[in-house]
Formats: sequence, C-alpha cells, structure tokens
Amino acid sequence: MTSSFPASTVLGYPRIGPDRELKRALEAYWEGRSGRAELEETARRLRESTWRRLAALGLEGLPSNTFSYYDQVLDTAVLLGAVPERYRQDDDLATYFAMARGAEGLAPLRMTKWFDTNYHYIVPEIGPDTAFSLDAAKPLGEVREARALGLETRPVLVGPVTFLLLAQAEPGSPDGFAPLDRLDDVVEVYARLLAELAAEGVAWVQLDEPALVADRTPAELAAVEAAYGRLGRLENRPALLVAAYFGDLGDALPVLAGTPVEAVALDLVRGTAHGVEALAGKTVVAGVVSGRNVWRTDRDRALATLRAVRERAGRVAVSTSCSLLHVPYDVERETGLDPALRARLAFAEQKVAEVVELAGLLAAPGDLPGQPPAPAEDGQPAAPGRPQTSPPGSPSGSRPEGRASQGRAPYAVRAAAQAERLKLPLLPVTTIGSFPQTGELRRARAALAAGEIGEAEYESMVRAEIERVIALQERLGLDVLVHGEPERNDMVQYFAEHLDGFAVTRHGWVQSYGSRCTRPPILYGDVRRPEPITVRWARYAQSLTSKPVKGMLTGPVTIVAWSFVRDDLPLREVVFQVADAVREEVRDLEEAGIGVIQVDEPALRELVPLRRAEQAEYLEWAVEAYRWATSGASEHTQIHTHLCYSDADQILAAIDALDADVTSIESARSRGRVLGVVGGFSRGLGPGVYDIHSPRVPDADEVERLLSEALRTVPADRLWVNPDCGLKTRSYEQVEAALANVVEAASRLRRRHS
Ligand code: GLN
Ligand code: ZN
Repeated sequence: MTSSFPASTVLGYPRIGPDRELKRALEAYWEGRSGRAELEETARRLRESTWRRLAALGLEGLPSNTFSYYDQVLDTAVLLGAVPERYRQDDDLATYFAMARGAEGLAPLRMTKWFDTNYHYIVPEIGPDTAFSLDAAKPLGEVREARALGLETRPVLVGPVTFLLLAQAEPGSPDGFAPLDRLDDVVEVYARLLAELAAEGVAWVQLDEPALVADRTPAELAAVEAAYGRLGRLENRPALLVAAYFGDLGDALPVLAGTPVEAVALDLVRGTAHGVEALAGKTVVAGVVSGRNVWRTDRDRALATLRAVRERAGRVAVSTSCSLLHVPYDVERETGLDPALRARLAFAEQKVAEVVELAGLLAAPGDLPGQPPAPAEDGQPAAPGRPQTSPPGSPSGSRPEGRASQGRAPYAVRAAAQAERLKLPLLPVTTIGSFPQTGELRRARAALAAGEIGEAEYESMVRAEIERVIALQERLGLDVLVHGEPERNDMVQYFAEHLDGFAVTRHGWVQSYGSRCTRPPILYGDVRRPEPITVRWARYAQSLTSKPVKGMLTGPVTIVAWSFVRDDLPLREVVFQVADAVREEVRDLEEAGIGVIQVDEPALRELVPLRRAEQAEYLEWAVEAYRWATSGASEHTQIHTHLCYSDADQILAAIDALDADVTSIESARSRGRVLGVVGGFSRGLGPGVYDIHSPRVPDADEVERLLSEALRTVPADRLWVNPDCGLKTRSYEQVEAALANVVEAASRLRRRHS
C-alpha cells in the first residue's frame, strides 16, 4: 500500500555544518586530537539540527542518509560492500578514511568532479569479481535516529546505474569490462536493502540517478529499464522516487516512465518539463527551486511551471532542482552584505522556505486541479532562478561582438621575440604560482579583516614573503620566477574582492570534497576592474631579480565557474565581462615590464555541458573569452596557461586553441593519457613532474625519468619543467627539497641535449 508523496521536499541538504562543525571534527579526529565518540556525536548533532530545522520550516518530506563523513558515493560503495581488499582494516571508520584519504603506503581512491559541479566524489573501483554484500547500517541508522526524534524520513541513496557509471574498472580487469556489467549483482543488493527498509516501516526511498541527464547509449538505457523494472516489481518494498538532476532526462524519461517506480524528480531549473505527460500516473517531484544558485525563486514563474506540470502529469510535489549540498546554509547570517543584494538571495534555509511556500500556494483553495493553468511556455522551464530585481549597473553590459579578438602574431613570430627577450635555457624550470601559505600569513589576513592590524603592516608582511620566495627561487636556480601569491586567500575570491560586480560572504561555505569547503563569491552585477589588482606585487617581485617574474592571473571561465553567477544574462556574456577585466590587467602587467603572464583556467573542463550536442558551442566561446583576455599582449610577452584536474585529454583541442605560448598541465595522476595526446600540441608544454597533492618529495632520478619520457613526445625546445599545480598546500620543507630535485633533473637533461 503506497502512501502519497509529501507535498514539499528537498532532494538533499548541506552537511558540513553552518560553522563547518563537521570539518573541524573530522580534522581533529584525523590528527588524533579527538576520538571516534566525539566525531560521532558532532555528526549526530548536525543530523538532528538539520531534521529539526527542516521540520520547523514546514517541510513535509524530510530526507535522511544525506549526511556523510566524506562523500555519498563512497558511502554507497561501503553500503554495497565494494571495498577494495587493500583498504580493509579492523576498524570500519579507518577503512572508510583509507579509501578517501589513503593510509600508510597506500594511495587513496581517485577523486573527481561530481558532474558539472565543484563537488568532488570518490571514484569506486569495481571489478568482475567484486563481492557485493549489503551493509545497511548507515541508512537504517539514520531512519531510526530521526524516528527517535519523532520524525519520519525518506532515505536517499545513489542509484545503481549512476553508481556503476561513476565507478571505474578495478585495475587489472579484463579488457572490455565495465562496472555496469555488474548491474544485476548490484541491483540484488539494492533489492535486499529495500526489503530491510520496508521492514523498518519506511514509506519512500529516493534513488539519485543524475547520470541519466547526460547522453546515454541504448545499452545504458536498457540497464535503467532492467534495474528499475526489477526493483519496481519487488513485492516488499517502499515506494520509489528516482531523482535525475542537473539537466533534462531526455531519452531516459520515457524509459523511467515505463518502469513501475512511483515518482520521478525532475530538474525544472536546468531542464524542462518536456515529455512530462509520460509520467502521468506517477508523482512528479518538480524541482523548481534551484539547488545550484543563490537567487530567490521567482514565485510566479515557479507556480506557473508547477501548475503546467500538474495539468499535464497529474500529481505534483514541490522540490529543489537537486540537493542543496551546493549552496551555503543561511543568508540571514551575511549581515555584511548590502541589504538590497541580500534581499535577492536565498541559501539552503531560504530555499526550503520557498519550497514550503510554493507547495502551499499550489494547494491553495481556488486553485484546485482542473483549473486552467497559468500561461507558461509549453515545455519550457520557468527560469525561476532569475533575480526579481535587475542587478545594479546596465543589464546589457558590453557586447561580446565588440570583442572580436584579432588574435596574436603567429606562434613562430612570438616564439622568436620571446626567446630574444627572455633568453631562457633549454627545458626552463618554473612553478605554477603559489608558494606555501604560512600560518603567519593566514593569521595576518584574519587580523587585517578584524581590524587588529593596519593595511601597512599587512603589506609589509606580504612584501617580506615575496622577498623570501624570490630569494629561494634564485638560490634553487629556477628560470622563470613567481612572486608566490602570498596576498591571495584563494585564486578566485581574491579577484572577486577586487572587481566591481562581485560580493563575498563571511559564512557561505560550500563543501568541495571531504572536509574542504570554498566560499564562492556572488557575481551579481556588471563586472568592472576599478584599478589594477596584481600589478604592484608583480612589479615589486620583478624589482628584486634579474630573472623574469611571471605575473599570475585567474582566467575568466574559472572565475565564473567558481562563483555563484547572475542568471539574467547568458553565461557567455558574463564570462566576457570578466575577460574584459583580465585583459586590462594583462595590459597593465605588460606595461609594468612583466614579460611572462600566466592566466590559469583549471575550470575550463568543469563547465563543459553534460550533453554532447551543447559542448562545441561552449568550448568555442570559452576559448574565445580566454583569447580575448590574453590577446592584447604583444608578441614579446609570453602567455602561459595552467590546467589541472581537467581530464585534459578530453578537451585537448580546446586547450590548444587557447593559443597560449606555454601550457602547464597536471599529469601526475593521468600521465599516460596526457602524454599520449599532446603529440599534436604545437607550442610550449609543461606536463607536471611533481605531484603536489602528496607530501612525497620526488628524487631527481624520478623527475629525470618523467622528463625523459615526456621528451619522447615533446621536442626539447618546447618542453617546460614544472610541478603539477600551485605549491600553496605544501610545506616549505617539502617544496625546497622537491624543487631542488626538479632543477637537478632538468640540468642533467639539459647537458645531454645541448
Ligand atoms: N596559480 C594558482 C596556484 O599556483 C593555480 C592554482 C590551480 O590551478 N588550482 O595556486
Ligand atoms: Zn592547478
């Protein structure tokens, strides 16, 4: 007997804690400063306050099992018993964290981005012989814990198809094996779990299948049909909600419609209601409140969408477009924000209130089903994320058409001009920009923000740090130096703080991975650069050395990708506004005598649309924006770019089209793949030779080996020598040792090649 789906719900909620309580508890536990009991108590309290808060706000459908000590995909691997042998330890929590973070002599599982978000999940390893078994302790535990508080919940699980599509084949699996081959076995474990949840009296279970909003092969769609056909036909189970978010279900919609699941959640912010009639007879959980952005929902448009869906499909519940994991907790705490801006913002708390309000309006008397729906463009999303008032500044901004980039001189001309000016040796050694951020600097920045020290005192500390970093690089023998980025808290926030059109929050933390959070800036208006941002630091650094100092900028795509962005303008237009500002900064650096300028675009890959049909267009304008940002530089200025975590091999043509003189790419974890494809690359290239994500210091022999390997594909006169990424998170001790070995390896090879 199926109970009807609650009128209002959210697909998930932040879990790190409004004051990052979980982060602190995890780090204390990892460092041995606290025990398991304290960690568990913090976690329990966070779950309790979340459920109580959601209930107090009037939300009817409360999710559970949305808490995680690290990541929900890793939790699913544990749930299914898919724990690779090498990680197994006596203590279950030790096993869990070994997979997430590694252990003595054991590298962690791979981590990668969750669809097109800045959240990272742990990639499970599945092989032909992985022995699946049910470990239902976590979802059952959360159901019971909430029930003890008098609250009924809906456990949320990563669905079997998405889980297997996100997994990677265990190393050593036979050719042609794909984790999805194990679908039947995995579905049996889900079936057992559903039986246990039914026995526990659980009415509804949510299975997240965001993988269904990307292009799927007929075989994958058949897997969806098989999995949900099988689970749907179980005798003894809770009602099933399948949640597909971050876009349109497309071909997967009729497939799901044909299975016996009771409800389907649609993302009506990013996707459309296209084909929703097929879901008649099921409940449509309509995601009209954005889980990805921070603007208040346009109530009238959302209501029109809800009514249109109800008209076409019948039963509708109101929800968020996806989990609220991707937004901060509560905008009311941001007392430092301009009140006019704050009034336009909704974080997780406010979004829950919006869902509740919309559900009330939808059910209001005089608005019974059957009444003519309010006009909404057929099948179109209602774009509820639109700000209600237009942002300050001219909404038109400047037009991208005015920015047709003439491009720079041909590479051969540039290369000759730069060789003449920079006089670099063969295999030049450089770094990606940041040097270790000392506790002293972080404390000074906090003291400056709190008004405890003055601007002048802070500046002199930054200067002293630049002096130290330049002296160190000279002593080690690097060829292109950097100032070390000591003035930056973060490569995006720093620029946001210095550009008009951006606001930054105090408490707006969003989980990035594990205990790590970022505070994405809010891009709310037209972007302008009131004055040069980085020039004085670069100039100061250059005044200390006769070697070239590289100016360091973050690229327009990355600044936008790692911010919450106004949605009243096309994304492309916003990116071009940021590109204008970067272009001005490039010009000013050049005028200040800086001969090498790096514009980082580590997020280029992240914004690639999930659907192939939309990818070419995105890559075209993203590349054009980068070229606009950099093409004001003369042929004598060497432009570098840097990409990391980017699955660079997948977008190599676009990276090449950036037309940078030198490109550095993270490659410690994807070496073969990167080197396998860069043969066609026609300009300077620096595949990383030092994995900065690990405390390990590579010796000179190892670096030499990596460089020799690279020399098989990249000619010596185009190969650069650099770490994988910025050195910010490492210690000076590790960095000094590693860079000394990198320089040593480069000079050995230089001798052989000259
Ligand atoms: N220049 C930045 C740094 O070195 C680049 C960081 C990044 O690619 N994520 O820190
Ligand atoms: Zn990087």
